[in-house]
Amino acid sequence: LEDRLVHSERLASIGRLAAGVAHEIGNPVTGIACLAQNLHEEREGDAEIVETCAQIIEQTKRITRIVQSLMSFAHAGGRQQASEPVCLAEVAREAIALLSLNREHDVQYFNLCAPQHWVEGDPQRLAQVLINLLSNARDASPAGSAIRVRSEAGEHTVELIVEDEGSGIPKSIVDRLFEPFFTTKDPGKGTGLGLALVYSIVEEHYGQITIDSPADPQKQRGTRIRVTLPRYAGPTAH
Ligand code: ADP
Repeated sequence: LEDRLVHSERLASIGRLAAGVAHEIGNPVTGIACLAQNLHEEREGDAEIVETCAQIIEQTKRITRIVQSLMSFAHAGGRQQASEPVCLAEVAREAIALLSLNREHDVQYFNLCAPQHWVEGDPQRLAQVLINLLSNARDASPAGSAIRVRSEAGEHTVELIVEDEGSGIPKSIVDRLFEPFFTTKDPGKGTGLGLALVYSIVEEHYGQITIDSPADPQKQRGTRIRVTLPRYAGPTAH
C-alpha cells in the first residue's frame, strides 16, 4: 500500500510539473513552427531551405506530441471524475472506432465485450485506458494480426481484457512498465506515459491491472492485459 501511495503522489507531482512545463513550452514551439512555415513559403525556390524548414516543422510536431500527452496526463490527474454506470462494450466500441481512424497499421480489432458487463466510473477515462492499451498492443503487433478486447465477469468484478499477438514484453522490463517516462519506443513515438496514466485511472476506479506476457505460453508470444474493476450492480444494470 505504501508503494502505491508513493506511486500516486509521484504521479500527481509529475502531473503538476508536466502541466506547467507543457504550458510554457507550447506557445514558443508553435511560434517556431509558424516561422519555419513562413520561411518555407518565402523561399519556395531554395531546395535546401525548404528541406530544412520541413525538418524543423517535423521536429516541432514531435515536441507538440510529447507536450500534448503530458497535458492529457496532467489533466487526467486534476479533473473532477464522473461517476456513472458504464457499459464496457460501449467503451470498447468507442476506443476501437477511434483507433481504426488510423490506417497506418494493418491490424484488426475485435470487440468481444459482453453488453451486460457494466462498471461504475468515468466513461471518458475508461475509454482512455482502452485507447492506451490498444495503441500499445497495436504498436507491438505484426501486420495482419488481431487485437481482441473482451470482458469476463466474476461475482463482484468484471475483467476487461486486451489481447494481442505481438512481440510480448520481456520479463526484464515488466516491473518498470508503469513508471512514468519508461518507454522502449523510438524517441518521438513513445512518451512512456501511457501505462502510468492507465495505472492511475484504474486505481481511481478501485481496480487492478495484471499483465500476462506471453499471452499464450505455448506460443511464447503476445500480451494479455487484464483490468479488474468492481462490477456495477445498480438498478439500471442489464
Ligand atoms: P509508450 O507507449 O509511450 O512507450 P507506455 O507506458 O504506454 O508508454 O508503455 C511502456 C512500454 O511498455 C512500451 O514502450 C512497450 O515497451 C511496453 N508495452 C506496453 N504494452 C505492450 C504490448 N501490448 N506489447 C509489447 N510491449 C508493450
